[in-house]
Amino acid sequence: MSETVEGERQAFPMRGIPQPGRDEVLNLPRVSISTHPVMQHKMTALRDKNTPPPAFYRLVKEIGALLAYEATAALHLETQAIETPLQPMAGQRLAGGIGITPILRAGLGLAEGFREVISEAQVWHLGLRRDERTLQALEYYNRLPHRVDLQVAYAVDPMLATGGSAIDAINVLKKRGIPRLSYVCILAAPYGLLRLSQAHPDIDIYVAALDESLNDLGYILPGLGDAGDRQFGTF
Ligand code: URA
Repeated sequence: MSETVEGERQAFPMRGIPQPGRDEVLNLPRVSISTHPVMQHKMTALRDKNTPPPAFYRLVKEIGALLAYEATAALHLETQAIETPLQPMAGQRLAGGIGITPILRAGLGLAEGFREVISEAQVWHLGLRRDERTLQALEYYNRLPHRVDLQVAYAVDPMLATGGSAIDAINVLKKRGIPRLSYVCILAAPYGLLRLSQAHPDIDIYVAALDESLNDLGYILPGLGDAGDRQFGTF
């Protein structure tokens, strides 16, 4: 490839790449797209370019809590004998631990929202970047524990754009032998959603909203811009 063509590919990674439409990914197995009216209300505020970083971060957390509520609906329970102030009873508690893996750095706000719903969850930070030559995922930060005793881990990252880092993150988590894995994002582009679900057909994917497409730079349209910059005010 000539240097100019290679330079152009790096500057506009999605230029000329065919993308599926929304209709082609609406009924993928194991993908749930939220239909909750409160979610849609918050999404509009999140997308608005006039929403400043403190409000944006708060909304990411709130949306994270709503997504956590949806994504934990099918968790396994076990019986726990307790005594209420009035009598003994058989209660229910979550069977096995829960892990949340924020993909750095944009996943941090979403992970905070998850923790508001499941405060006892372990948080495993994961920083990934791609080697542009080999396209292999490089872990530049990894706080996954040595001993794993979880029923499920949720990888969380607000934007499922090309799907590259989502696929890599699930590859990293799969090596830990966690019985069940889910991927949770706020916005998905059809292209990334299809790639992730084809690469990892055995995981559940939870999405707050499905958008139209990616632009030449790989940004989601209509989207919300850069989710990391908007959370942390780094414009
Ligand atoms: N990452 C972002 O922060 N925004 C996008 O639109 C795509 C990837």
